[in-house]
Order: sequence, then structure tokens, then C-alpha cells
Amino acid sequence: MSYQNYSLKQLQQIDASHHLHPFTDHKELREAGSRIITRADGPYIYDSEGNELLDGMAGLWCVAVGYGRDELADAAYKQMKELPYYNSFFKCSTPTPVLLSQKLVEIAPEGISQVFYGSSGSEANDTAVRLVRHYWALEGKPEKNCIISRKNAYHGSTVAGTSLGGMEAMHKQLGGAVPNIVHVMMPYAYELALPGESDHDFGLRAAKAVEDAILEAGADKVAAFIGEPIMGAGGVKIPPMSYWPEVERICRKYDVLLMLDEVITGYGRTGEWFAAQSFGVRPDTITTAKALTSGYQPLSALLVGDRIASTLVEKGGEFAHGYTYSGHPVACAVALANIDIIAREGLVERVKNDTGPYFAQALGERIADHPLVGEVRSFGLMGAIEIVKDKATKERFSPSGSAAVVVRDHAIDNGMMMRATGDTMILSPPLIWTRDTIDMACRRIRKALDLAEADLRR
Ligand SMILES: *Cc1c(COP(=O)(O)O)cnc(C)c1O
Repeated sequence: MSYQNYSLKQLQQIDASHHLHPFTDHKELREAGSRIITRADGPYIYDSEGNELLDGMAGLWCVAVGYGRDELADAAYKQMKELPYYNSFFKCSTPTPVLLSQKLVEIAPEGISQVFYGSSGSEANDTAVRLVRHYWALEGKPEKNCIISRKNAYHGSTVAGTSLGGMEAMHKQLGGAVPNIVHVMMPYAYELALPGESDHDFGLRAAKAVEDAILEAGADKVAAFIGEPIMGAGGVKIPPMSYWPEVERICRKYDVLLMLDEVITGYGRTGEWFAAQSFGVRPDTITTAKALTSGYQPLSALLVGDRIASTLVEKGGEFAHGYTYSGHPVACAVALANIDIIAREGLVERVKNDTGPYFAQALGERIADHPLVGEVRSFGLMGAIEIVKDKATKERFSPSGSAAVVVRDHAIDNGMMMRATGDTMILSPPLIWTRDTIDMACRRIRKALDLAEADLRR
């Protein structure tokens, strides 16, 4: 069956009739019709009208090695022919999750020794919540089960993911969160630093909010702190370098586990295999997904540190949790091939030493001075552009979020796929971007900003 027999209009009609999309106003979508992406190659995606777009979001933070990689398709094909599926329950295993686990432990930060698989970042975070609470129960402290997270955090969209996350709009529709999760301030200097407060001091103050929350709940009641090393969906919020080491120190002081959600930052995006390495911390769990397979297959891996792992093994007893697709052989085969490409092509070092610094410089020199731009920031190949009405006062356009959508629409019309979240434009391109691709992106973004400004000031 081929979609090519359908016109764009027909596909849009069928889509509107039968397909409910994630995070979508379905009334609005039905009126506008969806944009149908039909193919992709390297850094470009193509829609059903043949328009070429430079993909500044790597799909949705996923496609690290770019599109059209035969090697990944071949790995999936070969594995599907040999063994398309078997479970890893009942003391069974299949070869690819075994070898992938070894590989992940090899590239992970020191202290990580075990891997638990799921099919999505949300599932991996559910596993993480179950696991840390189970850990403290095994240690004889079942009441140590509160988890501290942050406002505006994104940890996925299952009930546990939404509860861990700090997105107000999501909580409003939740009708009852997983109990015992509290949210503290985020390390977002652009809006939250006090006048005259240095970046360093602001980072320490944001970390202090974690300590305050531990003391308020009582250290003997707090299981863990969870955070994205760089907040992604919340607007690429990059903490000061002082933040994570101080959070780690506080967690150790009160014997609270440190959980990092590296679903976006894992596998090279920050210029190290994991952002834990960029920020110099040693977490007890690391949630990963997205770039693990470059999005070619759905797969997540929860990386588990020695401390939790050794208790699980020593104390024994069943950890009553798992998924039908945990350790899916095809997804794990694709992940192995994907990590092989990232390593062989030196993409992690390239982000660290070449494209990451060039991306920062390009945004700083060619975008930051635009009258609509309040701030640009980046880390590795993650970037953000704050859209403001007034650069000096940081005043936003109203209603909140409306201006960024205008910028985004002009960007897309000019061949640049980027995302708007609140008043922030965000970028998370494939790691295969070169200096030339970055130049092209900056030209298109600048043009979109000019056109948006003309609209917004009219
Ligand atoms: C995308 C994301 C998730 C959720 O992953 P899904 O695969 O959509 O369930 C969790 N945490 C972070 C930081 C993410 O960016």
C-alpha cells in the first residue's frame, strides 16, 4: 500500500478524521490541516509538496546521525529476519540488548553498571521512579520516597512522567498526580537572576532551593532529586556551571539519590557522551532515549549506578516491573549501529571542539543583535533564542508565546524547521551539522526574525 496514491488534501482529511496527535488543539488542527512530512535525507526533511526544510530540531531531539542512513535500516532488516522479537522476561535474553548494555556501560559516566530498557523516555522515567523507591524500600527505608523535581521540567507524558515534570498545563489535565513529588525553582538566569547577581551565585541559589526542599520534607523522607542537565522542552534552559556540582554535593550530604534525565542531552549533544560528563557529576540513574537510536526505532535505556544495582542484586527479591518490549532486539540492533556511527564519525568530539563552539559564535554574532532577540544561549548543539518586544527591559509581546509562533511560521516558510516554546525559539539540530549548515541556518533564522518583526511591529 502506497501513500503516493493519495493527494495531500486526502491525507489531511483522513488525518483530521481519524488521527489524534500529541500536544495538539484538535479543533485548530482540523481547521488548518497537518503538514505532512514524506521523506528526509541528511539534515533535510521534505513535505508532501516537495518543500525542503533544514531540520533544526533533529526530528524531536532524536536524529543525531541525520536521515537516510542505510546502515541503520540494514541493521533493523537483518535483525528482523533473524529474530524480530523475543522478550527478556523469564530468565531469557537476546544478543543485541546484551551487547548494547555492555556498550552503554562503556561510554557512560563512571559508576554506571546496569541498563533497563523501555520504548520511550516516559517509560524509562516511570522505571526510574519505581526503581529508586524500590531501592529505599530494600534498604529498609520505605518512607524515604519523596522525589524533588523542578518547575517547568519535562520528564515525559505518562502519568508518572507528567507528575515528575513541572509543566502547569499538563498538571491541570492530570486529575491527580503520583504522590510525593515536589517542584523547586529552575536554574533559569535570564528571568530569575536578581539584578547584579552573578551567574555563579545564581547557580548556587538555584541549587539551594533543592536543599531547602530536602530540609522541608525531612532528609529521611527524600528519595531522590531528578533534573534534565539542560532543560529541553522547557526552553533550552542552561544552568550556570556552578549549579550541578552544588546539587550533587547537597544530594550526597543528605543521602538523596541523584537522577539525571538525559533523554535529550545523551549521546553527544553536549559534546560529551552524556551531559553528566559535561557538568562533572556522577548520577545514580540516567534516563536516555531519543538519540540512542537517532529515532530510527523507539527505544529507551535507563542507566543504573552501582549503588542501586548492588542493592538489587544483594537483597534479591523480584523487581516487579518491566515492559513487553524491554530490550527489543530490533531496536537494540539499531542502537548499536547508531552508536557505532556516532563513535566512528567522531561526532561527540566534533560537537565539543568544532560545531558546538561555532554554533555559539554564530548565534552570538549573527542573531543576538537582532531587535527581537533578548538573549541567545547554547551548549553543544542545543540552542535558544529569547523573543522580546524590548531588548533592554526584557518585555515580551502579549499574549505570552504569540510572538515566537510568528517567528516559527516565517522560519518554516523560509526552509528552517525550528520550534517555539513559550517565548523561546529552540534548536537541537542533528550532530552531523557542519559549519556550512550552521551558516545556512543562521541566514534563514535571521530572515525569519526580520519578517516576524515587520509583522509584530505593524
Ligand atoms: C522527550 C523527553 C521525555 C519523554 O520521552 P518520550 O519518548 O516522549 O516518552 C522525557 N524526558 C525528557 C527530558 C524529554 O525531552
